[in-house]
Order: sequence, then structure tokens, then C-alpha cells
Amino acid sequence: MFIRILVAVGLISMGAAGAMAQQLQAIARVDVENSRIEDVGDGVEIRLSLTQPVPYRLFTLAEPMRLVIDFREVDWQGFDEAKVQGSEQVADLRFGIFRPGWSRLVVDLKQPLSVFQAVMETDHVTGSAKLSIKLANASIAEFKAFSGAFSSEEWALPQGDKGLQPKTRQIGDRPLLIAIDPGHGGIDPGAEHEGYLEKHLVLQFARELKEALILSGRYKAQLTRTGDSFVSLPDRISIARKMGADVFLSVHADALSEGKATGTTVYTLSDKASSGAAAELARQHDRSDLLAGVDLAQQDDLIAAVLMDMARLETTGRSDLLAEMLVSGIGQSVGRIRKRPHLSAGFTVLKAPDIPSVLVELGFMSNRSDLNNLLTLEWREKVVRGVVLALDTWAFEDAAQARLLRQ
Ligand SMILES: [Zn+2]
Repeated sequence: MFIRILVAVGLISMGAAGAMAQQLQAIARVDVENSRIEDVGDGVEIRLSLTQPVPYRLFTLAEPMRLVIDFREVDWQGFDEAKVQGSEQVADLRFGIFRPGWSRLVVDLKQPLSVFQAVMETDHVTGSAKLSIKLANASIAEFKAFSGAFSSEEWALPQGDKGLQPKTRQIGDRPLLIAIDPGHGGIDPGAEHEGYLEKHLVLQFARELKEALILSGRYKAQLTRTGDSFVSLPDRISIARKMGADVFLSVHADALSEGKATGTTVYTLSDKASSGAAAELARQHDRSDLLAGVDLAQQDDLIAAVLMDMARLETTGRSDLLAEMLVSGIGQSVGRIRKRPHLSAGFTVLKAPDIPSVLVELGFMSNRSDLNNLLTLEWREKVVRGVVLALDTWAFEDAAQARLLRQ
């Protein structure tokens, strides 16, 4: 029968020689030459050769169908999909850091295949390890029955923010804490164009913005991810709420396949997308999470758990005002902004009910002049100045409104 969830700690089975070999190297690497994914009978066999045994877990997820393999501390440098992937039943591979200390390999499946066997064997002479996973054909019903994200203490994703009180509105009596959210990261690279990755470009911008905000003396600022690691969309909201953020600014530089998307755009949350392109962007972001192996099925519960309707009503207006300020602030400092610079759609990452949240598309990597801008320090500095200006104006106006409401 199929295995629903499997955890194995390879280190337990390791002998003394292996332990010695392991001390020589802190992080396991994948030995590409001896790793292979191929069709065997009507199933698939995945053999991964690692320089040392590591704890791992695996599970499958439906819609889209995929196998997720997590490892502790695997360095993916040199991992070449073309050398490893030889199965007709596998559509694609994704790999990279999932969260600090954990790496992930996502195997996209063309048809329902469930885990039949998974074994990690350690070579006690060389200290290396072989993970062998056998997938067997399953019906859709079987696949679904044995699919689902892993839930145990050690591996669990942060839970929803149940029981947290809505953030108190600022009235201008303290420096605001700005949560800057660099999009994508780790296993999810975001848009890719001419060798540049969105996850790197937006992290660079986020760091520059953080520095400028702190240097102004008027703000505190923190990033939702500080390095190249994956953070799911719901987690980004949780992180911002835990840090006590007054404002949530998500930063992206996506590529859009259709239309000539260009220029800086500011997005806010709405049930109804203001344009087809805005809806497409929101979908792309959810899909990035799905492809990275996040089970968004529970997401609505998480969001529902933090629903604070009174706060949300106010937050919508506050987010819209912030978006307008950003449009004029960035427009002023950069000199021009696109025709319809404020759009809205159902962005998962903007769903904090009590933190004004906006998503800034700095530009679209698929557009040459936008990409040039993103790569130019002077241009980024102008945008940073525009954002600081916008926050100054917004914070003043927002505090005045809050004081009125209190009276
Ligand atoms: Zn993006």
C-alpha cells in the first residue's frame, strides 16, 4: 500500500566511520552523476545520491499533483535538472532552500503516482547516502487519500494568528514600523529574465529601502525575509503581525506574459480585480506558493482565524490612501509613472485585516527598460525616496484621521 507520510532520520543508522566522514563536511551535497529520476515499469524511481545522510521527509500534494521532498541542509549548487530527470511521467523539477536549514525538491507529476517505498541507505565506508524513492501508479482517489502536507511539531509551518488582538492604529506619537516584504525567495525564484531573478532584485531593493527608512530617523523597518529563503504568503502576514508592523509593503518585479506591462504599479486588495492583468498577477503569486509545495488548502482557515471585520473596514481605506500616496510619491521622485498606476486584485499576501498593506510592482522584468531601471542604483534610490515621501505624507494624514475617529 502507499505511504502517506514518511520521516526518516538517516543519521540514526550511521556507523562510526560515517560519523567521522560526516564531520569533514557540514552540508550535504547532491552527487548529480549518481542521481537519477526514471520510469521503471509503470512507476517512477527517484535515486538521489548525497555526500552524507540527512534527515528528510516526503509527501504528495494534489492540484497540481506533486511530490515534495524536504532535506535538512542540502546544498543544491551544481544540481542539474537535465542530467537527473529522465522520466516521462515527471513534468518538472524545482529545488532550493525552503526555509533556513531546510531544502526542498518538488517533483511535478503528470499523473497520480503515490509513494510506495522510500529508503535512505548509508555507505559506512565513504559516509555517503542514497535515497531511493519508488512511486507507483495510483488512481486519483488513492492519490488524494494519501496526499497532504506533513504535520508534526518539528516540521510544522507557523500556525494562524488565532486570538491575536487587532493592531492599535497609530496616532502620530511613535515611529512607525514598516514591514518590507521582498517577494518570492529560496525555491521560488519569481520572474526570470535574461539571467536575472526577481527574488534577488527585490531583496536588494528591500534592503536599500530598509536602510533609508531607518536612516530617516522617523521609521523602524524589518524584512519578512532577510536572505534567499522561501516564505509562504500566509507566513509573510504572520511575520509582519508578530513584529507588530504598522504598514506592510510587499515588493515585486514580476513578468507578465500578455500585454505590454511596464512601469511602477501599486496594488491593493479587492475581491474584484481591477483588470485582467491584476487578476493574473494575483494568480501567479498563489501559484508560486503552490509550486513551492505549500498546501494553500488551509489558507482560508488561517485567514478566517484572523478575520477582524471592524479592523478590516478601516484597513481597506487606509491601504487605498497609502497606495495613492505611493503613486504620487514615486511619480514625483522618478518623474513618471504609468497611466493606471493603482490597481487591485485578490492578493493573498495583502490579507492582513488590521495592517494597511500594499504591493508595489517596481517594474516588470519582462520589459527591457523596466529591467534596466531595476538594475540601476540611481533609479532605485529615486524610488526609495518616493516611498519614504509617500510614507511621511500618509503617516501624517492617517494619524489625523485616527485622532478624529477617537473623538
Ligand atoms: Zn513577484
